[in-house]
Amino acid sequence: MPASKRGSNIYSRMGIPTVINAQSWVTALGGSLMRPEVFAAMEEAGKYFIEIEKLHDAAGEVVAKAVGTEAGFVCAGAAAGNLLMAAAVMTGTDEAKIERLPDTTGMKNEILIFKAQRNYYDKTFEVSGATLIDVGMPGGAHQYHLEAAFTEKTSAVAYIVAPMLKQPLSLFEVVEIAHSRGVPVIVDASAQVPPIQNLTRYTAEGADMVTFSGGKGICGPQNSGLLAGKRDLIKAARMNYQYPGPSRAGIARAAKVSKETLVGLMTAIELLLKTDHEAVWGAWRAKADHIAGRLKGMPGTRVVVEEDENRQGPQPVIYFEKSWKGLSPADVRKRLREGDPPIWVGGGGYGDEINMAMVNVQDGEERVIADRLLELLRSNKS
Ligand SMILES: *Cc1c(COP(=O)(O)O)cnc(C)c1O
Repeated sequence: MPASKRGSNIYSRMGIPTVINAQSWVTALGGSLMRPEVFAAMEEAGKYFIEIEKLHDAAGEVVAKAVGTEAGFVCAGAAAGNLLMAAAVMTGTDEAKIERLPDTTGMKNEILIFKAQRNYYDKTFEVSGATLIDVGMPGGAHQYHLEAAFTEKTSAVAYIVAPMLKQPLSLFEVVEIAHSRGVPVIVDASAQVPPIQNLTRYTAEGADMVTFSGGKGICGPQNSGLLAGKRDLIKAARMNYQYPGPSRAGIARAAKVSKETLVGLMTAIELLLKTDHEAVWGAWRAKADHIAGRLKGMPGTRVVVEEDENRQGPQPVIYFEKSWKGLSPADVRKRLREGDPPIWVGGGGYGDEINMAMVNVQDGEERVIADRLLELLRSNKS
């Protein structure tokens, strides 16, 4: 139902308008929506006390089974996953080192990262105390760039997979080069599910650990994430989260997860594995086709449905050609956001095209989006 027709809700009562989210699983608009089964499980989880370590064991098993790895762990998002992976590769299971972080004295504290994969979130590796070492050039890298970057201080290679982010070398190549030097590869694949095949892909390709957001395409709690990989490394990560000895809590204590979040993500993963992904993808495509069909034929624009790896699911995309005489793409975005209900669309990626992710578009909202876009694209510049 269109946001404006939803009537009173908890946000509108606070004076916060609800928006139509055609921008994707962005944190800034609230991630994704949890399914009723997830809420029900979280509510039930909130009624009892348990030994949280036992719950972590159970949650880790769900993660490991889903990702197909030796071990798993539920953490507070992919950002927390990056922190935990960075800490784990530096400390291993050495209690003295775990207690010393973020002071990395005496540790291998360099993590290699492609310059072309530097991104908005990469400080989350550095929070551990690690130093990121750039490899290659902004536009890419050759094998020799990576080979020359290893030192006796190298603790891991971080590899980031995200829409519009380059992969200068394939993960296979990176794994081969790193493993031949005994160095693990850690992967941030925060927003890469769906497609569901990506859940098992990166560790199957040889990565030692991978993290995904729980609150993006997995549709778990917005502040959840999962970490999966080799048994020793996951154990090391977990010790950095909650070091159970007599000393201070580990460095990742600032990224705590609640029992409700743990149960919520476990439930979301179980639902994900049972989902008819083709049906979900088909519903996204139907919405994308609706919008593209309504907008087709406007002189000066080219409207297509794209579903390549740089788009999250099938998306209608409006490309503006030189002959376009109407509102600028930036003005279209601005007016969409300022309308009622506010509509948020994607920022393009290849250029200043307008792309729309269908993954968070609720049934019927595709019509509201098409109506508003038609109105704006037909309107004059002024
Ligand atoms: C969203 C994102 C993150 C952060 O994930 P959270 O689960 O919100 O902590 C990290 N890395 C990349 C590439 C992302 O897209």
